Amino acid sequence: LIVMGIETSCDDTSAAIVTSDRKILSEVVRGQQDLHQPMGGIVPTLASLAHSRNMPGVICDALDQAGLTVQDLDAIAVTRGPGLPPCLPVGLNAAKTLAAVHKKPLIGVHHMEAHALTARLTTPLVTGDPWPEFPFMTLLISGGHTLLLSANSLGDYDTLGTTQDNAVGEAIDKTARLLGLKWLPGRRGGPGAALEAAALKGDPERFLGRLPMPMLQRNKSVIGFSFSGLKSSVMRLVEAEEVNTEKDMCDVAAAFQLTCIRHLEQKLHLALDLEVNQRHKPLTCLVVSGGVASNALFRTRLEAVAGMYGLPLICPPPQLCTDNGAMIAWTGVERLRAGLLDDYTITTLPRWPIEDLKDKQN
Ligand code: ATP
Ligand code: FE
Repeated sequence: LIVMGIETSCDDTSAAIVTSDRKILSEVVRGQQDLHQPMGGIVPTLASLAHSRNMPGVICDALDQAGLTVQDLDAIAVTRGPGLPPCLPVGLNAAKTLAAVHKKPLIGVHHMEAHALTARLTTPLVTGDPWPEFPFMTLLISGGHTLLLSANSLGDYDTLGTTQDNAVGEAIDKTARLLGLKWLPGRRGGPGAALEAAALKGDPERFLGRLPMPMLQRNKSVIGFSFSGLKSSVMRLVEAEEVNTEKDMCDVAAAFQLTCIRHLEQKLHLALDLEVNQRHKPLTCLVVSGGVASNALFRTRLEAVAGMYGLPLICPPPQLCTDNGAMIAWTGVERLRAGLLDDYTITTLPRWPIEDLKDKQN
């Protein structure tokens, strides 16, 4: 099977073509960093206009790179939600029109299911090596979500924990901005990649005591996350004029990053304590994905936690942790194989709890 995936939920216009035997035939991403950086954050209406401008070219490039025409495709998959309300319709309308004109099946994809399933596209099937077979646990750390899920089967996810306020990626972006970190030219990931680079040069110990771990007292045993207090602690340091030199910036970045990781680790422990012993069908692995999972320290530290429970950690390669069309195309492959198709009349779902996917199975 050959499926095209189209993604316009946030600020990347992307189209990709993948096959059911896990080959990525093409992958085209047109980012909008230069557009949004001067505004200090993503402006949804500007993002939507940029998607409209870029969408046709991105689709043509994805077909050209793969050496295919629309006729060769078995289905067209597209992000339906969750995502920015003005952005989602650009991809969806393009996909619907392509599918309707060429009489191809249309598959509406949940963006977070796609982040979770990417590892099933990118992990080679090697006998004896770990592979993300259901059921697995997945921690999705991205710009809009911090979601700990039990992935039971295709379209069947239970939320074990979510954030009470900011997503971890959102807190990282705002902190990078507060610290005045420069985005790395030519590297995707924007402020997140800049924070990782600064943290690498910094000494985490110096400011660690000033950045208290979230949910340590009252909500110690709750499986959930909170990042806005941490972000405010950084703001207080900046306001107190304690962050002046390059070294100060890097030290704060390192302390902030380490506290984020420790918070995730602590809550992951709680969930694994509960899940590993109580399941009748054992978990196969921990999958960590979403943009923040492209950060090397998050990966190594979370791998160590999973290892304590005998679970391998599986992550997509960093460039496929952030938004991309390949993850949408792959989710399309999985859904096409399961016969889960949609009508040409579907609309976007900017807010779409992942549990609601279960309804479609019935
Ligand atoms: P969602 O998937 O929740 O809808 P999104 O699609 O905007 O949100 P992604 O593209 O999955 O999010 O991830 C973007 C986030 O990942 C941003 O917050 C960005 O700062 C963060 N990020 C990217 N690279 C890194 C990195 N190297 N270290 C830390 N964070 C990073
Ligand atoms: Fe995403």
